[in-house]
Amino acid sequence: MIEDKNINKTPISDIGEFSLINKLTKTFKINNNETIFGIGDDSAVLEFEKTQTLVSTDILIEGIHFDLGYVPLKHLGYKSVIVNLSDIYAMNGTPSQITVSIAVSNRFSVESIQELYQGIELACKKYKIDLIGGDTTSSISGLIISITAIGSVINDKITYRNGAKQNDLLVVSGDLGGAYIGLQVLEREKAVYKVNPQSQPDLSDYSYCIERQLKPEAREDISKLLKKLEILPTSMIDISDGLSSEIIHLSKSSNIGCQIYEDKIPIDPEVIRTCEEFKINSTTAALNGGEDYELLFTINQKDFGKIKKNTKLTVIGHMTEKKDDCYMITGLGQKIKLTAQGWNNLIQSSK
Ligand code: ADP
Ligand code: MG
Repeated sequence: MIEDKNINKTPISDIGEFSLINKLTKTFKINNNETIFGIGDDSAVLEFEKTQTLVSTDILIEGIHFDLGYVPLKHLGYKSVIVNLSDIYAMNGTPSQITVSIAVSNRFSVESIQELYQGIELACKKYKIDLIGGDTTSSISGLIISITAIGSVINDKITYRNGAKQNDLLVVSGDLGGAYIGLQVLEREKAVYKVNPQSQPDLSDYSYCIERQLKPEAREDISKLLKKLEILPTSMIDISDGLSSEIIHLSKSSNIGCQIYEDKIPIDPEVIRTCEEFKINSTTAALNGGEDYELLFTINQKDFGKIKKNTKLTVIGHMTEKKDDCYMITGLGQKIKLTAQGWNNLIQSSK
């Protein structure tokens, strides 16, 4: 568990804002030709050609979006970038730059904020993103991180939420519910640690779930795969709040209904096993858990042949008439209406 006691650590006030920014950002490299000028002036300068520019922002607040009791700062930095990149991929775009703004209380040392930036840098390297600026300020308590991702997409390749058509297939990448159940494991270990700080938890049985929670990836690979398969989804969204809520977003934006099948929802065996241990219904974890950062999209039926053998993609249902609303057919054949949250009424689940 994380204990930043600030022993032998440098208070931020010792070095000042400018030298902090310099320390944090000096090792970042520029990867994209569109970045004309990054950090160091009043504004960054970008130049995009013949594309539409995508901009997406998220804000993360300590105690609301993350708990430093079990989230290492490096992982937090990494994940903060990933959640923003995921939004750009969900538009069928390619992210290329980020800005990072932080508000830090005096509880944090220079070294701890450097750890945060190591995670940010790792994500930038992996996804070839340029850090082009940000802002640094103090906060009365806790840490606040706001990241803006910038990307681009060729005009007619953009995938909005509102393009799904009746009879389109609904497809999801990867598997769902892992990040949520990983959080339950971490919360449990934190509670154990509070009672017994000497305890050394063995979390090897939960490694996949914990990784899904602490070190998610954005599905750049799916974006590339779709291009390779020559599939342009009719609509797309990333799964940050849970499958159910995202399906409702897609359907409402597209003004149609949707039917999915419980048996088709992809869930990893470790997630199913851990759900059983926690007495959580694994379908509920997938539908309402959130933070999986998978892509959910619709395709025309004519494209089914191109994806049917691909293990990274699962067809979980299809789009229906607007009057039909959004439903799930359970493993036992019941028809249950999907709701955006608090979906607890799957009594006779088969999973
Ligand atoms: P200004 O006073 O014009 O807002 P700052 O002194 O805040 O400028 O920032 C100086 C430079 O450092 C700018 O290029 C800014 O974008 C960048 N910057 C500031 N804070 C951060 C940060 N936390 N992460 C990355 N870049 C930053
Ligand atoms: Mg500033």
